[in-house]
Amino acid sequence: MYYGREAIVPYRFSPATAGMGADLIRLIDALPELVWTSMVDGTCGFVNRRWCDYSGLTANEGRASGWMSIIHPDELPHIRTIWAAAVAARIPAEFEACLRRYDGVYRRFSIKAAPYYDGAGRLSGWCGINSDIEHQRHAEAQLAAEKRLLELVAQGEPLSDILHELCYEVESLGPGSMCSILFSDAGGQRFRVGAGPNLPPPYNAVLDGLRVDPTFGPCSLAIATKSTIVVTDPPNDPRWSTSAWPGMMSEFGLASCWSAPILGSRGEVLGIFAIYRRQPMGPTSDELELIDRFAKLAGIAMERAQSDAQLTASSTELLRTNHFLAGAQRLSKTGSFSLEPLSDTQVWSEENFRIWEFDPTIRPTMDMVLAAIHPEDRAYAFAVFSAAVEAKRDCEVFYRIVTPHAGVKHLHTVMEVIPDIADRIVYLGSTRDITENRLAEAALRASEADLNHARMELVHVSRVTALSTLTASIAHEVNQPLTGIVTNANTCLRMLDADPPNLEGARATAQRTIRDGNRASEVIQKLRALFTRKPPCLESVDLNGAALEVLALCSSELQRRRVIVRTALSNDVPSILADRVQLQQVILNLVLNAADAMADVQDRLRELRVSSSIEPDGSTLFSVKDVGIGIDPANVDKLFQAFHTTKTNGMGIGLSISRSIIEAHGGQLSGQPNEAGSGATFSFSIRGERRALRGLQDRSAEDGTKAPRASLGGHPFVRAGELTAGRLA
Ligand code: ADP
Repeated sequence: MYYGREAIVPYRFSPATAGMGADLIRLIDALPELVWTSMVDGTCGFVNRRWCDYSGLTANEGRASGWMSIIHPDELPHIRTIWAAAVAARIPAEFEACLRRYDGVYRRFSIKAAPYYDGAGRLSGWCGINSDIEHQRHAEAQLAAEKRLLELVAQGEPLSDILHELCYEVESLGPGSMCSILFSDAGGQRFRVGAGPNLPPPYNAVLDGLRVDPTFGPCSLAIATKSTIVVTDPPNDPRWSTSAWPGMMSEFGLASCWSAPILGSRGEVLGIFAIYRRQPMGPTSDELELIDRFAKLAGIAMERAQSDAQLTASSTELLRTNHFLAGAQRLSKTGSFSLEPLSDTQVWSEENFRIWEFDPTIRPTMDMVLAAIHPEDRAYAFAVFSAAVEAKRDCEVFYRIVTPHAGVKHLHTVMEVIPDIADRIVYLGSTRDITENRLAEAALRASEADLNHARMELVHVSRVTALSTLTASIAHEVNQPLTGIVTNANTCLRMLDADPPNLEGARATAQRTIRDGNRASEVIQKLRALFTRKPPCLESVDLNGAALEVLALCSSELQRRRVIVRTALSNDVPSILADRVQLQQVILNLVLNAADAMADVQDRLRELRVSSSIEPDGSTLFSVKDVGIGIDPANVDKLFQAFHTTKTNGMGIGLSISRSIIEAHGGQLSGQPNEAGSGATFSFSIRGERRALRGLQDRSAEDGTKAPRASLGGHPFVRAGELTAGRLA
């Protein structure tokens, strides 16, 4: 090793070397180590040129003070002991010591000494060789420091702790140095202090948040140039002549700054690693290498922290997703599972365990599943499942299970084969707890039944309302045959009382009595059919006949109100499958409403026109047209709302019930003002198709009232064709 002192301390050949050949002396002087000899008694005999160069002493001074004179005083007592023992035992000695350099700096040396003997085997003295191991020690310490720091990184210690530790390590490797680590923010716009444990805190405070500006100081410049910037004398460095930084440095007693960029693995700048000193000085090549190595270490720690943060973020995201999924499964009461039927390997979601009320710590098996299925559904569910597995296809099954807490649950399971799994069949499935849906459906059915009941009640009320309106008319209709009966019976009696009794006449009047009695009975039957509360019933209905029957029923009432009825009923109208009484109820409502609407008409004939016709689409159109007060087209919908009435004694339910009846028959009921003249026309269109009658059929089926009604036949009230208000013949 070259210590560069030749010029300062000229080497002088010493008498002690006289015994050595000149060549040998030159050879020993050329050795990079410090070589010395001592006499048998231990006093110094010779120091080589390197020793003199290193210590700054002349050979004579060295010989006089001895080779031990440059050992660090702290180590001297210990080394003297080792040396004395070796000399006494005449054995080689090997130890380490710090030796003072000419400039007062101590460096670590490895010292090896061994006795040497003359030709006769007598001890001649000792020779020693001191090898500079400072560099090696430093490298070892540096390596150890790097290792410690990497361990901290690997252990996932907080970044701030690692960066502080890094500063301490570098400061201990380079006594007198103060380290600083700065982050540059994502945009490279500003600094953030990462660590600077021994820098003056106010200086750190200035750096924190400082804008990156290459003209301000070396840290910014190092970022801009991505290279190490060394400033040995800030006040005199032209690069910062306009900057406040040199002044700041002086203020805090800092005299030099070596600043290196901390780069990420993709070459991006993560921050700055800087070493400050209180003396104006530049780094040695070792120090430059040290800065470089520790800047890299800081980069590793920063990147690791970044990826840890990303990992934490993504695992948090994963946890959150799982959490959401579990939440969604819980909310929708849908569990999921995978199933490999051949090995009976099942993986269940949390919610699946909850649905089946199985212990989540136990591995579910097919046997457990089958045992939990309701005994009545077990064979069926198993058959569906086995068939699907056999055919390697998807399946879907509704079944019940019996659980310890909730009792019977209704489940819906869907299983799909996961494609692309060689030689195995694996299902992915979901099971939904549909118990609530089932209960709700049942409740809905029950409330539909209630609604139906309420509807029937309303229809009944509406009929009773009509009944009260028609009382006079009905009384007339029933009264007429009854009067006939009484008259006939009296006539019959008179004929029998005659002398001789007129038997022929009595028989004829008795027959008329029977006829009138039957007629009264039929009238009452029809009234009962129309006005008693009965569940809907489908039958083949002749709409024209049903309408004429209603008109006949109202005829006295209409006559009383001076309403003239005209009918235009098409013979082509087909029979339709419908509830006869309900349709008659609708027609009755329309007819009575029309009569009401014409109650105040004085200036024209109160004409009511009842017509039926076939529409182009095959449906039957039935209309009741009046010349009454008419309706406002903007308000038509309102008329169909329940309890909307403009009449003092009205209930406002006739049209709403009529509309729901027609709609239940798959038809439509509407009202509109007459195009010409005054008044309104209410009409319904209806088809005879079964499809349109589903609602009614279902209800009929539920009520068990599907028995067909008797056909209209020749009704005693009804006479087809044009009809004027008035008594029917
Ligand atoms: P209500 O007859 O008890 O009032 P409806 O539901 O049968 O109940 O009728 C509701 C309302 O519709 C009636 O109050 C009346 O204002 C109006 N309306 C019904 N039919 C006619 C019609 N032919 N002409 C004018 N208005 C009518």
